[in-house]
Amino acid sequence: MTAPAPLADGERPPAAGALDVERLRASFPILAREVHGHRLVYLDNAASAQRPEAVIEAVSDCYRTYYANAHRGVHALSERSTDEYEAARGKVARFVGASKSSEIVFTRGTTESLNLVAQSYARPLLGPGDEVLLTEMEHHSNIVPWQLVCEQTGARVRAAPITDDGDVDLDAFARMVNERTRVVALAHVSNALGTVNDVAAVARLVRDRSGAAVVVDGAQAVPHMKVDVSALDCDFYAFSGHKMYGPGGIGALWGRGKLLASMPPYHGGGAMITRVTFERTEYTVPPHRFEAGTPSIAPAIGLGVAIEFLESVGLDRIERHEHALLSHTVEVLNDLPWVRVLGQGAEAGSPRAAVVSLVVDGAHPHDVATILDEQGVAIRAGHHCAQPLMERLGVPATVRASFGLYNTHEEVDLLVSGLHEVRRIFG
Ligand code: PLP
Repeated sequence: MTAPAPLADGERPPAAGALDVERLRASFPILAREVHGHRLVYLDNAASAQRPEAVIEAVSDCYRTYYANAHRGVHALSERSTDEYEAARGKVARFVGASKSSEIVFTRGTTESLNLVAQSYARPLLGPGDEVLLTEMEHHSNIVPWQLVCEQTGARVRAAPITDDGDVDLDAFARMVNERTRVVALAHVSNALGTVNDVAAVARLVRDRSGAAVVVDGAQAVPHMKVDVSALDCDFYAFSGHKMYGPGGIGALWGRGKLLASMPPYHGGGAMITRVTFERTEYTVPPHRFEAGTPSIAPAIGLGVAIEFLESVGLDRIERHEHALLSHTVEVLNDLPWVRVLGQGAEAGSPRAAVVSLVVDGAHPHDVATILDEQGVAIRAGHHCAQPLMERLGVPATVRASFGLYNTHEEVDLLVSGLHEVRRIFG
């Protein structure tokens, strides 16, 4: 079962091409609950999205009817688990435009995917004087793994500046790419500002000036827009299941087959070897070379179903719907003189996706979040694991509303009336 809930009696279908949000909402059981006596308004999708019934059911069905360890046994349950797990890999590959399933490594999520690239790809390559180029808008997951590998190798991390409007300053970025640049790692979509970086343009620019690998943190892109790694022309692309309506504890790394084949493993254990003796071990081929130990079988299967769900809804339609929500939100907030929206200035050159960061005059973001929570509105307050970005923006923290395919214009209005309540309390 992957399609959204059927139309109820008397329910009218939405206009052609539009998202039938009410019907979609019915596919997400958690959205029916109340919080503090109010209907839940879930606007914390960038932290983690909710799961549709189809995903919950797929995971439950796995455990109820066929779960066993994969790639191990010859018995029926193990064969079925293996088949479903590998079929999920195929769905992930198709979803991001990979040419082969073997280019998809299952990981615990974006964080693990990026650490894998840092340790397996970059570590053998980097040496003193080499550079890893990031941007000022990166999530800590795309900063700390690079700092670790630079400490291990004597290379250094550099960060390309962003403009006041929250775009990567491409001229400055271009000047920072040189023959010492071995890795360029950037977010496809910023989790704090929603900036959609032009990865294809960045990849072109990098290839013109250096042999650096282009590593993309796609955590905030895959639930919101169609991603095609061959069109982006990057070398690695990392993402997480729980942000794309899939289970927690599962994610993926896409890597160019040629690069993956040349990389040593990053974890050792069962399932990633062809032969082990006490003297030496021979490693198997990718992707299994990078999947030591018993994999997250049911979550991977759930991720495959989340992908089918997203495809059945249509990423183009999701993108249009969320963009309309974003425009509505920014338009209303821009009329409130006591609210400052960050990184959505009129001068912004790049598109924005599904995320609004704001500060309210005189109210700490955590107080804003608490007052909104009392009204059932779930948003995130804090530095969003992007402390260098907060420093660049000159704020300790922001309030972040992040949208998913099930959010509505009415929910945007509830967010805004919650902000009015904040204003009333804080004067
Ligand atoms: N990168 C970005 C842009 C994110 O938003 C996040 C999560 O918030 C991550 C990386 C880390 O993802 P995970 O915690 O699923 O590994």
